[in-house]
Amino acid sequence: MSVHVHVRLNDGYAVTEDGQLLELTSCHCGASWETTYQVDEGEPESI
Ligand SMILES: [Zn+2]
Repeated sequence: MSVHVHVRLNDGYAVTEDGQLLELTSCHCGASWETTYQVDEGEPESI
């Protein structure tokens, strides 16, 4: 059993119900990951 270093290939993007950006990545070995990004539009809160 050799050591395998995952290669994260981009499978595309999706948007969650919370409005977060979801990045889908997977390796050719079958492993997959979901990375969420907090999308901050940077709207300043005026008082
Ligand atoms: Zn892999």
